[in-house]
Amino acid sequence: MSTSLPRILFADQLGPHFVEDQSVIIPEVLGPFRRRRYHRQKAHLILSALRHRAAELGSRAEIRRGETYHEVLGGLDASVVNPTSWGLRALVQDLRESSSLEVLPSRGFVASEEEFGQWASAQTKRLLMENFYRHQRRQTGILMVSGASGELEPEGGQFNFDHDNREPPPRGQDTLGVEAPWYPVEDEIDREVREYLDGLEASGEVRFLGADGPRLFPATRAEAVQALEHFVSTRLSTFGPHEDAAMQGDWAMSHSLLSPALNLGLLDPREVVDRVEASYQRGEVELASAEGFIRQVMGWRDWVWHLYWHLGPDFVDSNYLGHQEPLPTWWSELDSSDIRSRCVAQVLDEVHTRGWTHHINRLMVLGSFAVQRGFNPRALNDWFVDAFVDGTPWVMPANVIGMSQYADGGVVATKPYTSGGAYLNTMTNYCGSCAFKPTVRVGEKACPMSAGYWNFLHQNQDALRGNHRLSKPLGGLARLSDLEQVLEQESVRREY
Ligand SMILES: Cc1cc2nc3c(=O)[nH]c(=O)nc-3n(C[C@H](O)[C@H](O)[C@H](O)COP(=O)(O)OP(=O)(O)OC[C@H]3O[C@@H](n4cnc5c(N)ncnc54)[C@H](O)[C@@H]3O)c2cc1C
Repeated sequence: MSTSLPRILFADQLGPHFVEDQSVIIPEVLGPFRRRRYHRQKAHLILSALRHRAAELGSRAEIRRGETYHEVLGGLDASVVNPTSWGLRALVQDLRESSSLEVLPSRGFVASEEEFGQWASAQTKRLLMENFYRHQRRQTGILMVSGASGELEPEGGQFNFDHDNREPPPRGQDTLGVEAPWYPVEDEIDREVREYLDGLEASGEVRFLGADGPRLFPATRAEAVQALEHFVSTRLSTFGPHEDAAMQGDWAMSHSLLSPALNLGLLDPREVVDRVEASYQRGEVELASAEGFIRQVMGWRDWVWHLYWHLGPDFVDSNYLGHQEPLPTWWSELDSSDIRSRCVAQVLDEVHTRGWTHHINRLMVLGSFAVQRGFNPRALNDWFVDAFVDGTPWVMPANVIGMSQYADGGVVATKPYTSGGAYLNTMTNYCGSCAFKPTVRVGEKACPMSAGYWNFLHQNQDALRGNHRLSKPLGGLARLSDLEQVLEQESVRREY
């Protein structure tokens, strides 16, 4: 294997672990911006990160600009770390027909694709994230100790501290009251990127989604390390207890905001996990927070990545519930001006403003609303990729098609992640200032999430009946005194 071949670096391969000491070619192509509607801040972050990487590498790096990857990479003898989407892997195979392209195993995840394959083929029952996560803990020794019998045991006697991590938002506070997240300071490269994007928009060549705004996420390795250090030293200790809560006045809560840096390849997940474990071992954070966070990175993140390949390229088109509703314009345009439902308006606004909102908002507000209203899952998947600064093709199918839309009929999740307004009223403080009431199903004040939940169960009861986790809600549906009115109301409802 020769290291003298130049290395192609795609936009999510920008950290030091994607290159050795060879020269580097960084493609910057315009086609995807033209074909899709990216959030403006996503486009900014990607271009800023690419150009910062090229500047860091100086004479070792060449940015190749053009319309398509074929145009800028065709005929090139180079090496490349196997890219992160079915589309780009097909491109690499194509390019190999006319050039000598060395394809290296993928990087940027804790377990290699080979390791996951071995684990998956040894499973006799359905693949479960929890079992994979435990396997990862045993393989890496992270948060594991030697037990009396000499066997490795989980730190604290259990693998999972989720039951300590389900606190609602604190009462009487507008925010969680934790230190603000780390923010970057924009530089000359950001100014150039902004000017370039302004020019593209002004010429009508490209249309972006959402607002422009100061860059909020790391674009360089140095910034990413600062953001990690800041999170671990100021916010990790409060990550666990409030990880499932949402507050109107606190867009970041105690989340790390590290997904963009991880997905650009600026941080390696293993170093993030090691850093968090070290903080726990030094007695700086509680086990519940350290474990809860490590589960997200080494469990969930690796899990959705490996499922992306394991489930195949057609998984993203699954549509078990047969949902065909197009995304309404107000949704796809991130325009909440006519939306009175506080949770939906709040979360759409957050995406409009930053191209980012935290997990509970993605799953239990956006995803839940979308499945209740029968949005087409593939269209929703693609919207998430485009509208989020951390959106990538590999991250969405398991999260959107599987977890949030149940469009796979239960491959990824054992039941649809949707709820009525009562859940949101417990885990968020959105409902207090909402025009609707979570306890009301019919009439002026009927909560779209509550009425929508029962309507969803009714519409999909045949498809869901075999699922034992839904037997209680389906039993409740049969006893609902005002079901007919709810169904009639929701069948014509277009205002939320
Ligand atoms: C509908 C939906 C859409 C999502 N879209 C994205 C996306 O575009 N990009 C993305 O990286 N994640 C996505 N996620 C997963 C998760 O919501 C985000 O990773 C998280 O909100 C990012 O914020 P954070 O870095 O502050 O995360 P934290 O809460 O601080 O968690 C730490 C890290 O764990 C990882 N992680 C946690 N949960 C997941 C998960 N379910 N899938 C993958 N990684 C996870 C992320 O790398 C994250 O940075 C989505 C989840 C859902 C349900």
